[in-house]
Amino acid sequence: MIAKDLQSAVEALGEMIASASTIVPFTGAGISTECGIPDFRSPGGLWTRNRPIPFDEFVASREARDESWRRRFAMEATFAAAKPGRGHRALAALYRAGKIPAIITQNIDNLHQASGFASDHVIELHGNTTYARCIGCGRAYDLPWVKQRFDAGGAPDCIDCDEPIKTATISFGQAMPENEMLRAAELSQHCDLFIAIGSSLVVWPAAGFPMMAKRCGAKLVIINREPTDQDEMADLVIPFDIGETLGPFVGN
Ligand code: NAD
Repeated sequence: MIAKDLQSAVEALGEMIASASTIVPFTGAGISTECGIPDFRSPGGLWTRNRPIPFDEFVASREARDESWRRRFAMEATFAAAKPGRGHRALAALYRAGKIPAIITQNIDNLHQASGFASDHVIELHGNTTYARCIGCGRAYDLPWVKQRFDAGGAPDCIDCDEPIKTATISFGQAMPENEMLRAAELSQHCDLFIAIGSSLVVWPAAGFPMMAKRCGAKLVIINREPTDQDEMADLVIPFDIGETLGPFVGN
């Protein structure tokens, strides 16, 4: 069913939330656009401006690593200024109320943690861009350290093993994090309401989780202002703004 207007959408969603005992949200870049972070696929989104740098290119080419870090530092003011929006705060309220055991996210912006989710309850399928890791030994680095090295001599390598340092994100062509994939599958299979929020649902394998939840018996809600390929299987599709839709659930 596609909601006809915002008010009936909020009412229908409210009823589904009230009667669910375990809710699993699955979020994409659309939940963070009201926080000033552009998504990938909306008009003017990051995709239209910068072709993503695949993992093998990052590993093979110093130029690609320099370009990747230049882009990251160009976004730093945006990421640093972003605060959780209404969508993040509504989900945090449902988490505090005990309705949401953990959240699955494709986002890399750390805003679910900033809204009050314990880090262990944020399943980051595509990693996190607010810090960096060595792609060889996994050693973590903070961004100010990387920036200092970058300014002095370009993309830095690990001080332990000499392998390249990269934001702690999963690039195209990079293996998905195994433990996160297992936990996301477990959550999707054991909830009675699954809410996909602000994702075009075209990035796989992440886009498989709404389908998995539905097949395992959960009700599926999709909140996204553009249609997705999975709308047909959803119990409720809300084609409206995420902040407007989830704002009423923020609480006090
Ligand atoms: P996407 O860009 O493919 O899709 C975002 C969807 O959200 C679009 O369909 C758009 O119509 C919708 N949307 C945007 N703002 C909205 C709003 N206010 N209300 C309702 N709908 C809105 O994003 P994706 O599916 O998450 O895939 C992109 C990949 O890029 C992700 O895997 C993620 O790792 C990464 N990414 C993350 C961020 C972030 O962390 N904030 C930002 C850009 C890209």
